[in-house]
Amino acid sequence: MKVTLTFDNGPTAPVTSQVLDTLQRYGVRATFFLVAQNLRQPENRAAAERAAAEGHWIGNHTLTHTVQLGDSDDPRLPEREIGEAQELIGDLASPGRLFRPYGGGGILDGKLLSPAGLTYLQRNAHTCVLWNCVPHDWDQPDQWVDRCLQDVTTREWSLVVLHDLPTGAMDHLPRFLDGLRELGADIVQDFPHSCVPLQAGRLTLPVDHLLTR
Ligand SMILES: [Zn+2]
Repeated sequence: MKVTLTFDNGPTAPVTSQVLDTLQRYGVRATFFLVAQNLRQPENRAAAERAAAEGHWIGNHTLTHTVQLGDSDDPRLPEREIGEAQELIGDLASPGRLFRPYGGGGILDGKLLSPAGLTYLQRNAHTCVLWNCVPHDWDQPDQWVDRCLQDVTTREWSLVVLHDLPTGAMDHLPRFLDGLRELGADIVQDFPHSCVPLQAGRLTLPVDHLLTR
């Protein structure tokens, strides 16, 4: 059983640092999908720089995390939410120009992408990284660990979405990592193919169900 960890919506300096301390202690590497406007605060930028320096991958999780690509008619949305975010992330970005759309609660549906958004991602050689395990740490910060440990046993390779946000959920990260160890899970940094429909701008999986019609 393999497990990949991703941390979305940061960096938020104190919590991201706490997560980095924990990952370092357990010898685990992960990916941080940043809401890029957070980087305008120097302490957040420093936390992201530390993550990159410690071998974690850094991806783009939109500029503002306010509107799903498939939920807007604004033709400039992809340039702003993806392009400006990528510019802010700058040289912290990992190879492959990793992008994760704003998921609006974790549901993989037609609001996730738009035709314009997909075209933008293809033209700019992005890699789109989705997920298959969403333990709702953001709204159930004290209950997510057991649910997630149970859930990862149901598939061969789980790509888990967590959040380095000040909800208190990350206080339980050590217990989660202990639980994964007890399960004998192999914690890896790369992503299961089934969660990556776009690789460096090239479509590798059907995405019709993710596109606004
Ligand atoms: Zn998010």
